[in-house]
Amino acid sequence: MSHATPTMFISTLDVATIIRSLGMPALLNRLVARLEADFRRWPEFDKAPRLASHSPGGVIELMPIADARTYSFKYVNGHPANPLLGLPTVMAFGVLAEVATGLPQVLSELTLTTALRTAATSVMAARVLARPDARCMALIGNGAQSEFQALAFHYQLGIDRLQLYDIDQAATAKLVHNLRTVPMLTLEICATARAAVQGADIITTITGDKSNATVITADMVEAGVHINAVGGDCPGKTELQPQVLHRGAVFVEYEPQTRIEGDIQQMPRDFPVTELWQVLEGSRPGRRSSEQVTIFDSVGFALEDFSSLHVINEAAGDLGLGQPLALVPNQANPKDLFGYLETTRQRHRP
Ligand code: NAD
Repeated sequence: MSHATPTMFISTLDVATIIRSLGMPALLNRLVARLEADFRRWPEFDKAPRLASHSPGGVIELMPIADARTYSFKYVNGHPANPLLGLPTVMAFGVLAEVATGLPQVLSELTLTTALRTAATSVMAARVLARPDARCMALIGNGAQSEFQALAFHYQLGIDRLQLYDIDQAATAKLVHNLRTVPMLTLEICATARAAVQGADIITTITGDKSNATVITADMVEAGVHINAVGGDCPGKTELQPQVLHRGAVFVEYEPQTRIEGDIQQMPRDFPVTELWQVLEGSRPGRRSSEQVTIFDSVGFALEDFSSLHVINEAAGDLGLGQPLALVPNQANPKDLFGYLETTRQRHRP
């Protein structure tokens, strides 16, 4: 009887244990494989742009999606000034629920998991959009997400040189410290974004600033570069000068959401884009030549959290992690919710 099954709670500590136990390369492998499989069955999902609640300092978003078996949603915020208050810019949690009954099966942290899934998604896109011989990446924005991006590109795509830039030198120093023991990865600190992109095969922008920032201008983009633009992910929050988007082919996760939130919010409504799933399932081309500029205008889509929640839940099950949570009353008689109060009163009698 699935109705009596308690919801499993997967904490941040559990996810940290999963990362330690499996190792980052193996976990990223699993995530990318699951993401690719789910993106290839794109038409099976019930999709909608996320629901955003904006305030002057940030945004709180709900991201729902479902296939025939499982419904999921993520709660996530984006408040770029949070680090000044001692809080992360991005915090998240999410749920997996059974479509047939609506029973919430899993409640999980998604802050660490978002960093993992965003990096895995970036790599999934770069595999079909970046030049296969790419070895050097500019990493602009060295905050909470950045090490995950760095490691995903290193382990999955063979990036062995990172050219780093952040307006906050302490953020870059933190990244260098955190990655100091990764073998075969050269880190170079750059004084400007322009210096960081010099000679890079891939440019990742993952900055946090609620403004139409111009982190990359068209004259900084060399032939053959792949741009992984991750930080521009809400209205009024962009990273690329609009002319950059004319330099190459633009790829998005889910067009209706990216038109609102991505760097392409700066472009006319008919500006051409390709949804990534079409490239992954083979109906549209990815990179066409070694000279072409490709741009992944990433905003983060609910399917990525659906896939990641499954991977994390399976790993937690394998490792015996997670705690049962009394999120839904476990009633002997489903119609007797009031009577449930009586049973809990008896249970807690001293
Ligand atoms: P963070 O606040 O920890 O780090 C952001 C870093 O960007 C900071 O170190 C800041 O100093 C730096 N920065 C700001 N403006 C800059 C500029 N003009 N040039 C260089 N550096 C600059 O935030 P985070 O958790 O690392 O997230 C980074 C961004 O990625 C946020 O905007 C977040 O909303 C976005 N994000 C996107 C996705 C996605 O799926 N697309 C997922 C997660 C986070």
